[in-house]
Parts: sequence; structure tokens; C-alpha cells
Amino acid sequence: MIPTTQTVGFRSGERNVFFHILTACNLSCEHCYINPAQHGTQTLDKETMVAWLKLFARPGIPSNLIFLGGEPTLHPDLAFGIERAKELGFTVTVDSNGYLFHDLLEQTSPDLLDYLSFSLDGPDAAVNDPLRGEGVFEICTANLRRAVAMGYRVSVIYTVSSRNIDHLERMVPLLDELGVKRFFIQVIGLRGKTAQDGQGEAGGSWQVDPAHWLRVVPEVARAAAARGIHVTFPKVFLDPGETFECAGLAADNYFIFPNGRVYRCPLCEDYPINAYRIEENRLLHNEGLMEDRFFPLQIPEGCVMNRLLQPDNIVYDQEGRPEHCISCCLLKQEIVP
Ligand code: SF4
Ligand code: SF4
Repeated sequence: MIPTTQTVGFRSGERNVFFHILTACNLSCEHCYINPAQHGTQTLDKETMVAWLKLFARPGIPSNLIFLGGEPTLHPDLAFGIERAKELGFTVTVDSNGYLFHDLLEQTSPDLLDYLSFSLDGPDAAVNDPLRGEGVFEICTANLRRAVAMGYRVSVIYTVSSRNIDHLERMVPLLDELGVKRFFIQVIGLRGKTAQDGQGEAGGSWQVDPAHWLRVVPEVARAAAARGIHVTFPKVFLDPGETFECAGLAADNYFIFPNGRVYRCPLCEDYPINAYRIEENRLLHNEGLMEDRFFPLQIPEGCVMNRLLQPDNIVYDQEGRPEHCISCCLLKQEIVP
């Protein structure tokens, strides 16, 4: 039977905590969304990391904790953080660029770390390395093979932009050969570096137009699923009749940065409109015109923040009506083989 694509609705009561424990990175990807002016340059110390984990832990409620950076494996206490997070009841993921500093594979174990994600933006060095850096493809895939061999549950994240969308289909045989069972396809956002220059060093727009996305991504997802790979990809455009929902209202997501900013919506991360902040290890709500004041607004274009921050993504018909309703950037589709 051919596996079908399903929209993964927001699950109320489930929490997703995206924890940037530092912003430093050994790479300087062309499309990096980290913005030190907004997210700080701190590396959280061990004690602060644990204190902040405790702020978001809710034993008994399904809670996913994703360690992020910068490059989170540059943090010397990441293995310690993974162990504490597990004790606090989180399902723990690390998103890495593949360098796996501080012997992460040896310092933690598949019993503690639920998922280890590697970022690859091309099926070979010729596509990946101009985006992520010289030599990155080789190091990332070598470490990924090592992780698979040691029994880690490994996934790959591919950020689709105009630079690599036409190479996406070649990821399927690569993932199969590497033994990767989960594949996350993301869409490039206009945040961080891509928001500052809009183009990247190679020139031209990063954005993928709707027709191109719809022509390529669902088909590749189906091809990967046919090989037994569980694929998740953003919904991006709602079908006619589908109900729009904002995760800021319908879900429980937190995006924590080392300078203490806590966002509910990733599109807002380049602006000082974070709904919460952490001060002296306490989580405080920010009053005033912050991101959460925008979430209840209803417009035909769908996501309000997309309309405000990325209006070029929206195509209008001759009557001025949006051709597509843009879904929440956190709404995913999946194909389970
Ligand atoms: S690996 Fe991640 S944090 Fe580092 S430069 Fe690339 S996108 Fe930015
Ligand atoms: S991306 Fe849009 S719809 Fe999703 S949380 Fe942010 S504002 Fe809400």
C-alpha cells in the first residue's frame, strides 16, 4: 500500500522546548538564522542550563527538548545537559551540524539521547558545501555513519531553498544508503543572514516559489517513504477549506535563547518581541506589544507574522485575494512508511 501524507495537527498538552544553549558555531552557513544581536553571544553555564531546563520540565506531560545552538556540541557540558533533561522527563534531541565536538557519541548514549539530527543541505559535497562550508559534507556523513553504527536513532534535516531544491530528490538514495530512518525537510525562512542580505553571497533570491515547492517536495517525500523513511515536511500552503491555526495559540512551543529571550513563534526571533524572558532563573511574561498580541488576529493570508515579515511569500490574484493561505510555519505533514 502506498503510504499517505497526513497533516500533523497541533497536539494541545504536548510541549516542545527548543533550547539554544549557545550561539557560537564552527561553521558560517550562508543561510544561518542565528542573529547574535538578538540572541546574544553567551554560552550558558552548566548550572544555568539545568535551572532553565527545570523551568520548562513538566513531568507526566509529553515534552520534547531539542538542544540547539549555534552548534550545541561545542558546549562542553552538553552530555551532562542531556542526562539532566532525561531525568526531568524530556524526550531529548540534539540538532548538530555533524561535527560532534567533545566526543558526544562516546560521552552520551542511545539510552539517554532519543534522537540525533544531522543537518545536510545537499546530497553531495558539490551542493552541500557551497551552502554549509568546505569539507562539511564529508565530516557530517562520516560522523552520521559512526552514530548509526553505535545504535543512535539518527535523522537528517534538509533546509530547502532555491539553491538546493532541485537536488532534493537525490537525498533519497543517500539516506537509504546511510541507514537514516527519519527525514525532516524544512523551508528556508527569511531570518538571520537571509533576512539581512535577502540573497546570500551567490546572489538571487533564496525563496522557493509555491509552484516549485509543490512540484518537488511532496513527490520526494513519497519517494523517501517508499524506501521506509519517515518524512516530515512543512505544510506551507493550506488547501482550500482547511482551517488555519496559529501554534502560538494552539500549541505549547518555547524557543529559548542564551540571552534569556523566550519566543513562542520562530518567525519573530529577529525582533525584540519575545513573549517571555528569563531573569534570575525565573520565567517572566513580557507586557506590551509582544508577539502573543498578534497571534489571535485573523486575516485571509493566514499567518499574521508571515504577512508582516515576509509579504513577498504571498501571491495575490487579480482581485487582490491571496492565492494560497499560508499555514503556521510549525504545521507539519508527515508520511509514515
Ligand atoms: S551550523 Fe547552524 S548555527 Fe552553525 S552556521 Fe550553520 S546554520 Fe548557523
Ligand atoms: S508562524 Fe504564524 S501562525 Fe505560526 S506561531 Fe508564528 S504567528 Fe502563529
